[in-house]
Amino acid sequence: MPYVHDTLEALRKSSPAQTEFYQAAEEVLECLRPLFEHSPHYLDHNIIERIVEPERQIMFRVCWTDDAGKVQVNKGYRIQFNSALGPYKGGLRFHPSVTSGTIKFLGFEQIFKNALTGLPIGGGKGGSDFEPKGRSDGEIMRFCQAFMSELYRHIGPTTDVPAGDIGVGAREIGFLYGQYKRLTGRYEGVLTGKSLNWGGSIGRKEATGYGAVYFAENMLEARGETLEGKTCLVSGAGNVAIYTIEKLYELGAIPVTCSDSRGTIHHARGIDLDLLKELKEVKRVSLEAYLEKHPEARYLPAGDYPEDGHAVWRIEGDVAFPCATQNELTETDAEALLGNGVTCISEGANMPSTAAAVDRFLAAKAAYGPGKAANAGGVATSQLEMAQNSSMEKWPLEKVDTKLKEIMANIHRQCAETAEEFDDPTNLVLGANIAGFRKVADAMIEQGVV
Ligand code: NDP
Repeated sequence: MPYVHDTLEALRKSSPAQTEFYQAAEEVLECLRPLFEHSPHYLDHNIIERIVEPERQIMFRVCWTDDAGKVQVNKGYRIQFNSALGPYKGGLRFHPSVTSGTIKFLGFEQIFKNALTGLPIGGGKGGSDFEPKGRSDGEIMRFCQAFMSELYRHIGPTTDVPAGDIGVGAREIGFLYGQYKRLTGRYEGVLTGKSLNWGGSIGRKEATGYGAVYFAENMLEARGETLEGKTCLVSGAGNVAIYTIEKLYELGAIPVTCSDSRGTIHHARGIDLDLLKELKEVKRVSLEAYLEKHPEARYLPAGDYPEDGHAVWRIEGDVAFPCATQNELTETDAEALLGNGVTCISEGANMPSTAAAVDRFLAAKAAYGPGKAANAGGVATSQLEMAQNSSMEKWPLEKVDTKLKEIMANIHRQCAETAEEFDDPTNLVLGANIAGFRKVADAMIEQGVV
């Protein structure tokens, strides 16, 4: 079928230099081949060309003043990719590496992820090349206010509901919300990940990490195993990594690593979760400070494997949770993981494994949960926050956690059943892409050419 090649060629021409987006698009399109053989009507409706094209892309200038009184300028983005299933939904990322291509790949992945949750949410994403590290609270606030001063006119509780992502946590969501309220005069559920004091959902902060662990549990259960007693490798030290580690402890596993952009901590008796929270949620400092309390742990500075790969994936373990960023796990890393005994990989981050690494996992028939399935617990719980906001209710933790578990089990079931339907039963990448795509494409066809 020439459509994969033709579509990617057309994207390279019309949207140059968006490598991560081509990577995400290629994976989805390749996985859809067997579906189109079986259901060619999707091609007749030209769904492929329509689905890779965002409904709307907004780019804007963000000007703000730093503590020294100097005017700073950043780029702001919001991509409203697909609204076939509901209002656009997806996080905001503040990181210096952000480009329009980063936001586009994240928005594209978000379409299928949101479809898999079974909830009425379309796909969107946004962010800025702003670097929050090293900035004072006052600077963060002024940046967030400037960012929202443009974004507010494009979002709303039934049109587009952003949330957090890398560099955007409770503090930033608070500043963004305050500015939205000031500009519109409305107190409404326009952002998720809000503080519990003023409209947030209990369990949202934890949901992505907890969900990635539930997904791993579902994958292991299908193979007659559990997480109990398993040694787990976690990368990242932010929101997703921290709550992955927390849930792993609750289920009797031993998380022995975490990492940030400067290095990896390997603590064989298990990561000190309270210390990790203090270093990253309160003090916002490098992981190197972990050694002050635990000199017996190992610190592996980033760049130990400069030619290809990352120290965190060279440690022995049973289950891996990449929870930092895209393409953080290379083919060489995948080989090292498989060689070291890892049999299950559940992605907390978005597209953390390169295409070649994914091929290795699939060839080895490892239990591999791609990000768009395994980390969907975050956006699913964001939708639960929207439901609570619109009905003016506040649900208890048990209700949110029970729903999260059900949603993750349901996503796993859909991926596994779809993989089975297309005769590739261990391939959850195929299952996730086809199951997510079918929902969105069917809705697009039913809603006509818009
Ligand atoms: P945070 O900003 O809270 O944490 C990100 C962590 O990853 C930090 O420890 C950061 O280190 C590390 N990191 C970032 N970039 C790199 C890099 N290039 N190399 C090594 N380490 C890096 O973000 P989140 O935990 O929210 O997000 C992590 C991943 O999970 C992202 O892929 C995100 O898209 C995905 N995700 C997040 C969801 C959420 O609800 N928050 C939902 C679904 C997916 P440092 O502090 O040194 O920068």
